[in-house]
Amino acid sequence: MNILVCVKQVPDTTEIKIDPVTNTLIRAGVPSIVNPFDGYALEVAVRLKEAVGGKVTVMSMGPEQAKAALKECLSVGADQAYLISDRAFGGSDTLATSYVLSVALKAVEEKERAPFDLIFCGKQAIDGDTGQVGPELAEHLGYAQITYASDVIMEDGMLQVKRESDEGYDYITAELPAVITIVKTPFEPRYATIRSKMAANKAVIPTLTAADMPIDTSRCGLKGSPTKVKKTYTPVREKHGIKIEGKPADEAARELVGLLSDAKIM
Ligand SMILES: Cc1cc2nc3c(=O)[nH]c(=O)nc-3n(C[C@H](O)[C@H](O)[C@H](O)COP(=O)(O)OP(=O)(O)OC[C@H]3O[C@@H](n4cnc5c(N)ncnc54)[C@H](O)[C@@H]3O)c2cc1C
Repeated sequence: MNILVCVKQVPDTTEIKIDPVTNTLIRAGVPSIVNPFDGYALEVAVRLKEAVGGKVTVMSMGPEQAKAALKECLSVGADQAYLISDRAFGGSDTLATSYVLSVALKAVEEKERAPFDLIFCGKQAIDGDTGQVGPELAEHLGYAQITYASDVIMEDGMLQVKRESDEGYDYITAELPAVITIVKTPFEPRYATIRSKMAANKAVIPTLTAADMPIDTSRCGLKGSPTKVKKTYTPVREKHGIKIEGKPADEAARELVGLLSDAKIM
């Protein structure tokens, strides 16, 4: 089975800082990681490959530094990687991103002379957080899509997908090709070994630019993006609340009841 996993390199969110003047993310010096849901998607893909045979390719659209994320994926079971990078793609919104990914994956299929049977995305990226890229990619390709999957297996040539819903789980049977977005799985992604890390570090990752694919650049980048970000800001934390301190308990309780009844809460 020929499987593609779309991987986004994201800033480690516990470290995110917003520039108070420009209202944009301060990326300099911020550690980057593989989007965690893409890590789960890769683990599902590698388990499928181990079960039925085949190959797992990872692909990321981003700057040169995204190769570090791709190498991490190579160290935990991906067989090959492609970086999709061009100035024309910078500033793309989700529609433009999914369009670029759809054209790039067709270019990879052409190059490798092998169509992808299955395409995995994470359910959402932890920075952009829209969860739109996977479903949009399925639309661009005209493939079936299954979202919020936590496990995927093949049985008698058909996909069997366990999908999370508000009520519990849906069990879906689908044909290939399909696009599947993955939530946190019940199993943990595997760790890299020293040997696999060393091999991944030596890997040469090809970069595909706009010139390498039949892409309409008017549909990419900031100009080709129908979404316009007007303003971003970090909400100011306002401290409400009153502390009643330094009083005996009965007096403090009486004061609290007074405050609550003044506020018409009691
Ligand atoms: C007008 C505008 C300008 C923007 N400019 C920038 C900018 O300059 N720089 C910037 O970093 N962001 C920019 N963004 C944010 C950008 O749109 C999103 O980060 C991006 O399109 C993906 O959306 P998301 O993060 O919500 O992904 P989601 O839809 O939440 O991601 C779901 C899944 O799709 C896949 N995926 C998503 N993005 C990629 C990718 N790049 N490569 C491979 N797989 C992917 C992953 O599997 C991921 O788990 C901009 C957004 C807008 C609206």
